[in-house]
Amino acid sequence: MLDIIIIGLGAHGSSALYHLSKTSNKICGIDRFTPPHNKGSSHGQTRIIRQAYHESPMYVPLVKEAYNLWHELEKSSGEKLLLQTGGIILGDKNASVITGAKLSAKTHKVSYDYLNSEEIKKQFPAFNPAKETVAVVEKNAGILFPEKCIKANIDQAKNNGVALMFNEAVQSINQKNNVIEIVTDKDVYQTKKLIVTAGAWLNDLLPDLHLPLNIKRQVLFWFKNIDAQKQTSLLPNKLPVYIWEYNKGRVFYGFPDLGDGIKIAPHHEGQPIQPSLLSQEVSEDEINNIKMLADKYLNANLQFNYAEVCMYTNTPDKHFIIDFHSSNKNIIIASPCSGHGFKFSSVIGKILCDMATGERVQFDLSPFSIKRFNGKKLMMKFN
Ligand SMILES: Cc1cc2nc3c(=O)[nH]c(=O)nc-3n(C[C@H](O)[C@H](O)[C@H](O)COP(=O)(O)OP(=O)(O)OC[C@H]3O[C@@H](n4cnc5c(N)ncnc54)[C@H](O)[C@@H]3O)c2cc1C
Repeated sequence: MLDIIIIGLGAHGSSALYHLSKTSNKICGIDRFTPPHNKGSSHGQTRIIRQAYHESPMYVPLVKEAYNLWHELEKSSGEKLLLQTGGIILGDKNASVITGAKLSAKTHKVSYDYLNSEEIKKQFPAFNPAKETVAVVEKNAGILFPEKCIKANIDQAKNNGVALMFNEAVQSINQKNNVIEIVTDKDVYQTKKLIVTAGAWLNDLLPDLHLPLNIKRQVLFWFKNIDAQKQTSLLPNKLPVYIWEYNKGRVFYGFPDLGDGIKIAPHHEGQPIQPSLLSQEVSEDEINNIKMLADKYLNANLQFNYAEVCMYTNTPDKHFIIDFHSSNKNIIIASPCSGHGFKFSSVIGKILCDMATGERVQFDLSPFSIKRFNGKKLMMKFN
């Protein structure tokens, strides 16, 4: 009998595995693929981490602790996982990304600069803002390398003696008395506690919870700059990570050139998708649409290099789910992070570890509860 099984070793599951590996040697992680892989939500080389959190001030204490834990993982693994480039949020003065970033920064004393259009152009020559565009700039923002982060978590956990089952898909979760039985396509396991961090596949594993999740296909694009004179303005020392609300509610974001060209992507504009049908194919129209945006807002002569396709697992309010199962406190659920969860995975893994081992959780998790959707409908019947 195992102490804890974790289903899904992407961003959150691998982090939980790492933290739990320090507490017991009867921990097992199962993944249907070999993580890190490109079939879920945690690939594409880079993720933004930032503190002036426009989505809500409630995330700032979490992200501050996430930074500490990323640095701890860098230390224990000897890997460089976080590159500080600074970060810039652009939009007009009433754009929700601008007002939200200022609110979070003020609430939690995150230092920032507020720039007008001329100041933006002067400091960041890669950008081509309109006259009314303003920006919130923060120094501590930067880039996480998601595949390296997941690998570091798994390698550290492996060193600590966890069992790893890769290329093994969980087919069902059954409760028998106080034991949870996990049936995979290869074996059957018994465990006292279970953490389900299956990302876009969460509803397949826990269908009776009827979580209101909306899985969206999201494409990431890399473009090479073929204007030799403007190469340096796209490098990490000149171009921070950025998020740009260019029309009300419409956002794209991007990264400096780390070797393959600049990476740029729309936020929340993907089509609904079944996770098993995710393909890496991208249409000419998709490439042309993002290139039109890039040509308008960036000072560069861009040529398409390649694209990757990923998935957002969205909740109706775009906040996370981190909670005990509605009818079984031995099952803990995390994952649906609505396209902004990677940066938190270091701290969410620690939170899942504390929940599973009965330690006090240092953060208020009520905004991430399952019952905020519709408690009664979400009760699960076990056989
Ligand atoms: C294009 C894109 C850009 C993003 N940008 C940012 C960003 O800049 N900053 C940020 O903070 N966040 C960002 N995010 C969000 C962040 O990457 C995700 O929230 C996070 O990676 C999700 O992690 P996860 O652990 O929930 O899912 P995943 O990493 O997908 O892990 C789920 C795992 O469960 C496994 N699994 C599923 N079903 C089973 C089963 N039945 N049996 C066994 N294993 C199973 C899968 O194989 C997978 O490995 C972005 C997301 C995308 C898609």
